[in-house]
Amino acid sequence: MLRTASLLIAAFLLACFPAAAMADWSKLQTPHFLFVGDAFEGQIRRIAQRLEQFRDVLGRALPAGATSSPVPTVVIVFGSARSFAPYRPQFEGRAVEAAGFFQSGEDANFIVVNASTGEQAFTTILHEYAHSVVSNRTGSLPAWLNEGLAEFYETFESRSGGRSALIGLAPAHHVQLLRGSTLIPLRDLFAITSSSSDYNEGRRRGVFYAQSWALWHYLYFSGEPRASQLNRYVLEAPIAVSQEALSRLRLARICNRSKPSCETT
Ligand SMILES: [Zn+2]
Repeated sequence: MLRTASLLIAAFLLACFPAAAMADWSKLQTPHFLFVGDAFEGQIRRIAQRLEQFRDVLGRALPAGATSSPVPTVVIVFGSARSFAPYRPQFEGRAVEAAGFFQSGEDANFIVVNASTGEQAFTTILHEYAHSVVSNRTGSLPAWLNEGLAEFYETFESRSGGRSALIGLAPAHHVQLLRGSTLIPLRDLFAITSSSSDYNEGRRRGVFYAQSWALWHYLYFSGEPRASQLNRYVLEAPIAVSQEALSRLRLARICNRSKPSCETT
């Protein structure tokens, strides 16, 4: 079974990437992921270590089995913006500003990251892996929920040599953007999908991600039973969120209870 999966992955990689380009690629197999790419071996090793630590923490924080995957996960690590460029996601014929992406598949899941973005490569890999966990369990979620969750977990930091971890840190760029922006009305936020313009380009794209993060952060830190209900919904109940119920939430309350607090207009 493992051999079959390996052959399928090799076939996929050869179909997607020129054999000549792959000749210089490094390969690293870790307990839960296969890493390949043209980044330096040291970069790939550091990314691999961070991702394995993150998976371990998620496995303990989420309900049992949340991080198990029915198919192997391949992580493709590009060493430069140039080598990543041909594979960047497209929206209406234009490349989307992205440092990575996640693509599910029947035989394997793929996480693709541009390692030349420095520290951002680490948050990108965690962000995309969070999408992978969700995809393995529920298939799809509303865009704001999926991105809010991934933005929330991407700030994961390992502490005490991996014996403890910090999750839920507020990204400064999101807080700053929310303070200086007109917020998207919740009804509009909930209506955004992965094929919406606001999801893929323009200034509101940043606000969409920041606001989705703030909403997830608020719900997660609302105490029990809400935090457990939220995890259970994401991992076990792929039903439509009651848009009407969510609309009754007042963003002012969300901002007041998020840490650090943000301002509303
Ligand atoms: Zn995302």
